[in-house]
Amino acid sequence: MPNPDESYDVVIVGAGPGGLSCAKNLAGSGLSVLVLEKSPDIGMKICSGEISSKVFPGEDPTKKFKGAQEWRRVIVGTKKGKTQIDFDHPFLWTVGRYELESHLRKECEKDAKIAIRFSEPVVGIDSERVRTIRKTYRYRFLVGADGSFSKVREFLELPMEDIVGYAFHYVVPKPADEFRVYWLPDTFPRGYGYMMSKSRGATMIGGAMGGTDVLHSRLAPRVKSWVKEEFDIDISKHKCEGFKGNADFRGWRFRRDKDPGAGDKHADYSHNIFLVGDAAGLLNPVTTEGIFYAVKSGEGVAKHIRNDPEGKRIMDRMESTHRAQVFLFSVFSNPDLPFCRMVEWVLENPTGGIRKRIFDFIFWRFFDG
Ligand SMILES: Cc1cc2nc3c(=O)[nH]c(=O)nc-3n(C[C@H](O)[C@H](O)[C@H](O)COP(=O)(O)OP(=O)(O)OC[C@H]3O[C@@H](n4cnc5c(N)ncnc54)[C@H](O)[C@@H]3O)c2cc1C
Repeated sequence: MPNPDESYDVVIVGAGPGGLSCAKNLAGSGLSVLVLEKSPDIGMKICSGEISSKVFPGEDPTKKFKGAQEWRRVIVGTKKGKTQIDFDHPFLWTVGRYELESHLRKECEKDAKIAIRFSEPVVGIDSERVRTIRKTYRYRFLVGADGSFSKVREFLELPMEDIVGYAFHYVVPKPADEFRVYWLPDTFPRGYGYMMSKSRGATMIGGAMGGTDVLHSRLAPRVKSWVKEEFDIDISKHKCEGFKGNADFRGWRFRRDKDPGAGDKHADYSHNIFLVGDAAGLLNPVTTEGIFYAVKSGEGVAKHIRNDPEGKRIMDRMESTHRAQVFLFSVFSNPDLPFCRMVEWVLENPTGGIRKRIFDFIFWRFFDG
């Protein structure tokens, strides 16, 4: 007799911040939840591992996460040079991906109806089942939390072309002692250069570029020559890595083919497939902050599945915030428009006068929300 497929109320693809937040917010609902993760462990995403105050409002990440590093100083670079800006309170905290996801995972483990399986990449999806390299699982609700190479998004046949960005950097094996961002529209059009933590313990030095026409292969040579020029490091001795980010949002709830039936107390059955985080394209294209948007959309979708109207309210707010971010990104980052040069003018010396006021206003809007 062939093994019957295992059945779950909710199958979540991906145990990143979006998937784990979704699972955590389903705890206590009585629903059976399965999280499928292709990697052997949590915390493996290429990422700086920094969170803003929006992620745990009212909490101090240095108390919540052992070893978390707070950032109160940013070095802003332009073609005219570098400026150091000091604030009286932190704008970001490096908590590390492993630490952040361990925290979310522990919350999930409080509910015996939530299972997380590692080293199980999802390789096939239909309107009732997901297939991994090991097994096939039936779902009533499917959540795509599988990042910017999402299989669930692929199954939904949603394109990912409008606001997609690429990051490419060298990894220096020592903790970052500075947080640097460079506005260099001629070198990194619709992007920026950076030197920041790679989670905890290492430093990433490289650049990001956004837009439909950017290919990772075009970014790498730019980063290579810029890093050689700007930093005193021998790049031949350092590992390099690249990743795609997705800010091309095309909705968060979907339905494919089958009507799963009526009469259940959970959620609106007209949609039973959801996308969160980078799979949904909720990355902020301006700052490339994505952890908050993944965690919050995971919460929003979980609440929606639980039939809590707050879920849809969260997702509606995220959608309108995202549209505003995309608008700002397209206006201010386009090197062919004058706004891009205005940003350059502000960043050349944001330490006093009107430039400081503009800088502070925009900077804190983005990080503190
Ligand atoms: C270089 C770089 C630095 C960044 N730094 C920051 C930062 O400091 N702060 C910040 O807020 N954002 C940062 N971001 C953005 C941030 O990393 C993402 O927005 C965030 O990770 C999105 O979370 P997620 O849960 O949606 O997806 P991910 O974190 O990408 O998680 C998706 C999970 O799904 C798994 N998966 C994928 N495919 C499958 C499959 N087929 N089957 C099973 N599992 C699968 C993956 O292994 C992964 O664990 C950075 C991005 C880059 C590229």
